[in-house]
Amino acid sequence: MNRKFTEIDETIRELNASTDAHFKWLVKILRFIANHDIDLPEITCDDAHQRCEFGHWINTRLQEEREGKNFVLDISKKHIRVHQACRNIITAINDKCQTDAVFNVFEQSLLSFTEALTTYKVHLLQLRTSYDALTGLPLRRILDESFTSMNNELGAEGLYLLLLDVDHFKKVNDTYGHLNGDIVLRSLAMNMSNNIRRSESMYRYGGEEFIVVMHAKDDREAVTIAERLRHDIAELDMVAGEHIIRITFTAGLTRIHPDEALREVLERADQALYIGKKSGRNCTQLINQRLETKKFSG
Ligand code: GH3
Ligand code: MG
Ligand code: MG
Repeated sequence: MNRKFTEIDETIRELNASTDAHFKWLVKILRFIANHDIDLPEITCDDAHQRCEFGHWINTRLQEEREGKNFVLDISKKHIRVHQACRNIITAINDKCQTDAVFNVFEQSLLSFTEALTTYKVHLLQLRTSYDALTGLPLRRILDESFTSMNNELGAEGLYLLLLDVDHFKKVNDTYGHLNGDIVLRSLAMNMSNNIRRSESMYRYGGEEFIVVMHAKDDREAVTIAERLRHDIAELDMVAGEHIIRITFTAGLTRIHPDEALREVLERADQALYIGKKSGRNCTQLINQRLETKKFSG
């Protein structure tokens, strides 16, 4: 199980536990109403939403959440409304002027709170399917969704896309078996993703093809990075059962220009990759917008 899956599962578990805590809180309200003398700050205080168990959890989530920040903010807002509506009921009961309206507001606040929780849970489950179970890398869908904003934010600094395909991978499977082939793909993913900068990303594009989006100010720098990644993999002894396996890959490398669509960039990188395969594999093939290519190997 990879780290991203574990993180998502843990968040779902915590979300369920904190939601259960709010059911217990509802029972406390009943007790509170039955025995007026009990002092329950998580019901009556102005900052009751900060004091309840769910409030503690949502505060942590607000700090830690990245992709789903808007969902968490929405839950937090609706959680505060539940507590406000509850305080209004208690006050109305104490003043003996409870009306249908205060109960209706409480009911509505609870329903929209639960709806916000469900929406967040759906988001977490969708996110889970956007990561590859074998390598733990984000799948192509995440690149599709984030490409435009990534290009708008970082394109001016110089962004490059590297599309790589493992050489003769079918032979690896045929020689060592499919399970060992899986271990090889996992080693490649782990090694390379640990070898790129934190701000750069690696994706599983499909099968034995991967994409790295990296920062480089010009072609020279991009080629240096790509060649370093290629050499590191070519020199890596991958341990699969009793076997030590070595692989190489061929890569198409191209600059991502401002306003370019992902499709255009991928088509160009794919063309370079194809040329690299035909010219003997185990190389980086740089391609520009005029479709001129240059090979780097050795
Ligand atoms: P080339 O150098 O031209 O890329 O040759 P290749 O053998 O790598 O290319 P080909 O497309 O013929 O074979 C790719 C192989 O990758 C076939 C497929 O079974 C294998 N493959 C794809 N996904 C996985 C996977 O998740 N695990 C394993 N073990 N093999 C996979
Ligand atoms: Mg392939
Ligand atoms: Mg291949």
